[in-house]
Amino acid sequence: MARLGMLIDLSACVGCAACAVACKMENQVPAGANRLWIREREVGVFPDLTVEFRPEQCNHCENPPCVPVCPTGASYQTQDGLVQVDYNKCIACGACIAACPYDARYIDKKGGYADKCTFCSHRVAKGQQPACVETCPTYARIFGDLDDPNSEISKTLEAAGRQDVLRPDMGTRPKVIYLNAPSKKGLTQEVMES
Ligand code: SF4
Ligand code: SF4
Repeated sequence: MARLGMLIDLSACVGCAACAVACKMENQVPAGANRLWIREREVGVFPDLTVEFRPEQCNHCENPPCVPVCPTGASYQTQDGLVQVDYNKCIACGACIAACPYDARYIDKKGGYADKCTFCSHRVAKGQQPACVETCPTYARIFGDLDDPNSEISKTLEAAGRQDVLRPDMGTRPKVIYLNAPSKKGLTQEVMES
């Protein structure tokens, strides 16, 4: 059993969206939907001005509100801590979309089910890295087992300075963890819709 998660080092991310494009291609994400996107915000004022490039996707929350609201059991959590959708059980009611504070899910209209980032579980099962990790030109992303103290992700997390997750107030315990946010105040805020 693992506790799979991802680190995204914001001091390395340049917002090139290579990860988002790789995801789109790898997972054949339909037009108009995204499993991964980049938010860009200015932080501070001149002369202390910087930009936060922040990739966002499903956080594979440890306490995912998208799971208990699902009336069919299609939205579920694996033993390795992935939050997934069983397409055969999904009735596309959208309850999970309403429950996710991160806007991570969409309805795949052609398939007739809810979908989102899977942490590329089909690749991970073959011993490969998620497409977004493999394609990142600045090596801003690290994927792995947060419970394995010898994993790269655990070692990097232990050595890291600033660590943040999105909307910690929601109690979802995200497993996409942002390192080295450019603002001393942490991640830039936004109005979240749920
Ligand atoms: S980010 Fe949203 S879809 Fe992903 S596990 Fe958390 S609540 Fe569920
Ligand atoms: S859209 Fe599918 S996965 Fe989401 S709550 Fe409804 S049945 Fe469950």
